[in-house]
Amino acid sequence: MKRLTIQRQAILDLINRSNQHWDAEELARCLNKNGHQLGIATVYRGLGALENSGLIQSIQLADKKRYERADKGHHDHLICTNCGDIEEFCDDKIEQRQQQVAQDLSFHMTGHQLLMFGICQRCFNQSAGSEAL
Ligand SMILES: [Zn+2]
Ligand SMILES: [Zn+2]
Repeated sequence: MKRLTIQRQAILDLINRSNQHWDAEELARCLNKNGHQLGIATVYRGLGALENSGLIQSIQLADKKRYERADKGHHDHLICTNCGDIEEFCDDKIEQRQQQVAQDLSFHMTGHQLLMFGICQRCFNQSAGSEAL
């Protein structure tokens, strides 16, 4: 593998040290706080290159991509549209169904992403609480 630039290595290290699903702005802010001088354009380019090399993974949300470690193995995501919280899950039955659907349609699936949107329990409880007042 080609050697990474110091900047890309810093991006990769930060992602690999966490379980978060980062967007580019969050990464730039955190890296700059840690003493790296990285413009947002550099972060975007770095993320694209790291993803193309398979070193990180991304999920595509409506407005932006979020990036995470590549070594977690396959999983899918539950996304709270109120607070942005992201939960991970993996369900064997869903995985198998998807394989079957692809096979039935003679489709050679190379991967998939399943995003479920909704309201997390915490936000749900909060809104229920405020309505009671
Ligand atoms: Zn929430
Ligand atoms: Zn994830």
